[in-house]
Amino acid sequence: MTFEDLDLIPPILRAVEAAGYKKPTPIQERAIPIVLRGEDIIGAAQTGTGKTAAFALPILDDVDYIGGNEPLALVLTPTRELAQQVADSFETYGRFIDVRLAVLVGGASFDKQVRALAAGPQVIVATPGRLLDHLQRGRLQLDSVRTLVLDEADRMLDMGFIHDVKRIIRRVPRKRQTLFFSATLRPDVESLARDILNNPIRVGVKPDYETAEHVRQRVIRVDSARRRQLLAHLLTTEGWDQVLVFTRTRRGAETLTMVLRNRGFQVEEIHGNRSQKERNAALDAFKSGKVTVLVATDVASRGLDIRGISHVVNFDMPNNPEEYVHRIGRTGRAGATGYAVSFVVADDWPLLREIEQVTSKEIRRTTVAGFEPTWSEPIASGPKDWDGKGVKVVYSAFSGSAKS
Ligand code: AMP
Repeated sequence: MTFEDLDLIPPILRAVEAAGYKKPTPIQERAIPIVLRGEDIIGAAQTGTGKTAAFALPILDDVDYIGGNEPLALVLTPTRELAQQVADSFETYGRFIDVRLAVLVGGASFDKQVRALAAGPQVIVATPGRLLDHLQRGRLQLDSVRTLVLDEADRMLDMGFIHDVKRIIRRVPRKRQTLFFSATLRPDVESLARDILNNPIRVGVKPDYETAEHVRQRVIRVDSARRRQLLAHLLTTEGWDQVLVFTRTRRGAETLTMVLRNRGFQVEEIHGNRSQKERNAALDAFKSGKVTVLVATDVASRGLDIRGISHVVNFDMPNNPEEYVHRIGRTGRAGATGYAVSFVVADDWPLLREIEQVTSKEIRRTTVAGFEPTWSEPIASGPKDWDGKGVKVVYSAFSGSAKS
């Protein structure tokens, strides 16, 4: 299937072509006709699947048709960064049509947003808190909204936005189209979807924990205290170009950034101790290739779409398998192969097994010469004993040097 087959107007097709897209991704193929027909969608889709264009292209089609200077589409996202990315996508795909956009996120100038609203935007991209702020101050009306998009609904719930979201939805017409996207469709997510969707069509539904096919995963067993040196060693010896490194805490991110910087690496950091301005600058520096390593915590990295990430490094393992899947989804997007490298310390072993169980995948275990751990792999710990037989599993097929 081609984009032409999707019945989009020529200026949008031109923009898609200019963006270098050759053909629609599966979620686009499936969702765009449904959105154009005006029906509701519940989509299980992670960032990296092309879901933004799946809703942005048909919305822009509608904006071109209806015009005017009232909000026609409202996109809610959990984070400022994601809001900015979604807005950037709208700009990219809408460059040949007459569309005005307002991005309403916290941490940015209120007055500037008020000015953007005064210009009569047809598309609003917002995080819940700041949008409510504008609504309560009477700076905008949502009576004219035809399409409501909830992007990364699961994250919105995780971040405690449920009440804000519901309050906003009460200000949007009942008769509307709702497009609901979430990486996972857990029970609480499904329940929210039931409340706000009308006969939705399910799209892109695949097992919740399926990990991206084009991400090559490996685990490096290492002692906790040697992880910083190991990372520096790998950065030097393995020629990684764009590396996103996850730490569990803000402090951990700060310390790691400092250590790597002192060793001469070009590093930036994104976490809760940094202002919005600093985060944006860090992200820009990383995206433009000025720095090759970006150290981030989970919360700060939600929904980031950074092209060309060659490696995701789990310096600290995440708290749960879901977060693991989310993190490694940052690499290997849109067809390219990515690499996910996880530093596993002795205490992480049960979590590693859990990840393997929910993703139904064995992750290759390795050690790096000179950084061999002082602990050995627990017996009968691998995925092959899932049948509960407690057989000792020998990982000869998966072990080897870090470069293999
Ligand atoms: P998303 O899942 O919306 O965050 O998109 C992930 C990445 O894929 C973005 O960098 C998009 O620019 C890119 N992308 C979206 N649709 C396509 C397509 N049809 N062909 C190639 N790349 C795409």
